[in-house]
Amino acid sequence: MERKLATIRTVSDIQPIENADNIEVATVDGWKVVVKKGEFEGGDLGVFFEIDSFLPIEDRYEFLRKSSYKTMTDGTEGFRLKTVKLRKQISQGLLLPLNLFPEIKPSLGEDVTEKLNIKKYEPPIPACLSGVVKGRFPSFIQKTDQERIQNLPLYFETLKEMEFEESEKLDGSSATYYVKDGEFGVCSRNLELKESETNTLWQVAKKIEIKESLEKLKMNIAIQGELVGEGINKNTLKLMGHHFYIFDIFDIDNHRYLTPGERYKLIERINNDQLKQVPIINIIKIFEIYDSMEKILEYADRKSVINPNVSREGVVFKSCELYEGDTVSFKVINNNYLLKHE
Ligand code: AMP
Ligand code: MN
Repeated sequence: MERKLATIRTVSDIQPIENADNIEVATVDGWKVVVKKGEFEGGDLGVFFEIDSFLPIEDRYEFLRKSSYKTMTDGTEGFRLKTVKLRKQISQGLLLPLNLFPEIKPSLGEDVTEKLNIKKYEPPIPACLSGVVKGRFPSFIQKTDQERIQNLPLYFETLKEMEFEESEKLDGSSATYYVKDGEFGVCSRNLELKESETNTLWQVAKKIEIKESLEKLKMNIAIQGELVGEGINKNTLKLMGHHFYIFDIFDIDNHRYLTPGERYKLIERINNDQLKQVPIINIIKIFEIYDSMEKILEYADRKSVINPNVSREGVVFKSCELYEGDTVSFKVINNNYLLKHE
C-alpha cells in the first residue's frame, strides 16, 4: 500500500498557543498541527498533508516557499513538509481548508494524494546503495513500510490486551534478501537490484553469507532488515563500517510475516552469528502501559541501545500473535529526533 500522504480528515480539537496571536493548534487523529487562527473549528473537515509530503508548485502552497522549497534528486521542484516547532508548539504536516480545493468533493477519510499530485519526499540515495536496477520490488513479498501511530488512534482501545514486541527503529536503509524457488534476490526499499561488486546491499549479503544461510532453510523466505553505518543516511548512530540488523522475516508461501516468536526460532535455526536482530527492548501490552498518544510519543524519546550517546529514531511495535490472520505493526517516531535530523 502506498502511503496516504494527503487525506480528508476531521479536526477533533482546536487549542490556543501561548504567546501566539495568529496561530492555534489543531488535533487531527493523533497529530498536532499548527493552523491559522480562526480557520478551523472542532468538527470541521480539512485536507491534511502528512510530514514527508512533497507538494507541487501551485499558488495555494506558495506561502510555504520560504520554509519548505526543495528540489528532489530527479529535478522535481516542490515544497517539503517536515516536523517543526512554532512558539514551542510541535507541528507536523499541514492542514488546509476545503475551500482551497474546489476540485475535491470531500468525503471523510478520502485519499487525495494522487488527485492533488502529492509525492513522497525522497532524500538523495548514496551511490553505494543505488546499484543497477533489476526490477520492481517483488510482489510476492511485503514492503517494509510501517504505519505511524498517529494514524492509528483506535488501537489504544481495540488492542489493549495485545502483547507487542518492541524493537528499536534504526535510521538507515531498508534491505530485503530472499530465496524463492531456488533464486536468491536482493532488494532495496522499492527495487530489486542486480548483483554488483560496488553495491553495499550485495557486499553485505556476501560478507555475512546471507544466501547460504537462507538456502539452508529450504523454504521460500525473505529476511528484512536495516543497513546502517558510514555514508548511509546521516549515520546518526555514528557507526564505523556497515551493519545489517534483521527486523522481520516474511513467509513467502503463506504470504505473511512471522510473529516475533516464530522469527526468533527461525533465526536460531539459521544459526549464523553474523545475522543480528535490531535491539529487542521488550515484550509488552503497549496500549495498557502507554495509554495515550502523548505518553507513547514521549516514551519514544530515549537513547539508542546501539549507541547510548545518541537519541534513537524511535521504536517499532509488532504483535506477538496474529490478529485476523496477520501480524499488526506500527512505528512510533521520536519527535525530538525528527526536529533535529529530518
Ligand atoms: P520510515 O523509515 O519512517 O519510513 O519507517 C519504516 C522503515 O523503518 C522500514 O522500511 C524499515 O526500513 C525501517 N526500520 C528500522 N528499524 C526497524 C524496526 N526495528 N522494525 C521495522 N522496521 C524498521
Ligand atoms: Mn527510515
